[in-house]
Amino acid sequence: AKAEHRSSVKVFEPALLYARRLQGLMISELREAIRTDQLVLHFQPVVELKSGRVEGAEALVRWNHPDRGLLMPDAFIPLAEETGIIIDLGYWVLRQAMRQLRLWQDGPGVDENFSMRVNISTTELQSLELIEHVREVLAETGVEASRLVIELTESMAVNGSDIDRYSLTGLRRLGIRLEIDDFGTGYSSISYLRSLPVNVVKIDRSLIQGLGTDDKEREFVAAVLQLIHACGMQAVAEGIETAEQAAELGRLGCASGQGYHFGRPMPPEQFAELLRGT
Ligand code: C2E
Ligand code: CA
Ligand code: CA
Ligand code: CA
Repeated sequence: AKAEHRSSVKVFEPALLYARRLQGLMISELREAIRTDQLVLHFQPVVELKSGRVEGAEALVRWNHPDRGLLMPDAFIPLAEETGIIIDLGYWVLRQAMRQLRLWQDGPGVDENFSMRVNISTTELQSLELIEHVREVLAETGVEASRLVIELTESMAVNGSDIDRYSLTGLRRLGIRLEIDDFGTGYSSISYLRSLPVNVVKIDRSLIQGLGTDDKEREFVAAVLQLIHACGMQAVAEGIETAEQAAELGRLGCASGQGYHFGRPMPPEQFAELLRGT
């Protein structure tokens, strides 16, 4: 059995080494990408469902790779998380998003509470630098803390480790808002939601998909909205792709929404046009 094991290792070794080498290459490329601004942010509108007004944007990172074209986050965020590069990447995203917000926030026709949503990952939440980075970028750009919404996933918020709690309360103390992303895909207990220092809950796309076609789905989303409101939190729905879904969510009392129906994530120039109403 031992010999067999050894020979199987031999067979797979070259492939494994090749994969490692590729990964190593990508790691240094990604570091370089952050240094040389190959990363870009696209912005997706967040809309007030009652009025249809654009109330904010979510910043979503892409990598404009010199050989491979525009890479979506799924192609590099996991690697950035595994290697810790996400700390620098997240810092870059935050600074870039706040600079953009600064440019837009006082423009004509822009909602006076126009806000920017930025995603963070577990590694960032667990880093002691996060609060310092947020404070620094807000000071540097002059953006009011209340305009920044940090999105974290349910499992991150629910983890409950001391350092996570410390980060969450520290961020709240700065005056920024916290949002649970992808709500409904995790496994947090209902009572736990109440105890979180969170202001907004974003209902996951998977719960929105069946809206407009299925009565049971509507009942379910209605119950989720009631739960969120009972916790004293605000609701946002993501993944709205049809007018029916938007209308249904509005009827159910969901304040805000986001999805292809209102606009895909787009480069800043295009988002500026959207804001100007052109
Ligand atoms: P997310 O935060 O849940 O972002 C929403 C994703 O759904 C985005 O994909 C967006 O393009 C897509 N989407 C928006 N509206 C619709 C819709 O109506 N229908 C459908 N089918 N999809 C919609 P994207 O940009 O590929 O981002 C994927 C994930 O990558 C994000 O999921 C987020 O978890 C992560 N990510 C993106 N930017 C960053 C970042 O700057 N930092 C970190 N840590 N993670 C990021
Ligand atoms: Ca998000
Ligand atoms: Ca989401
Ligand atoms: Ca998601």
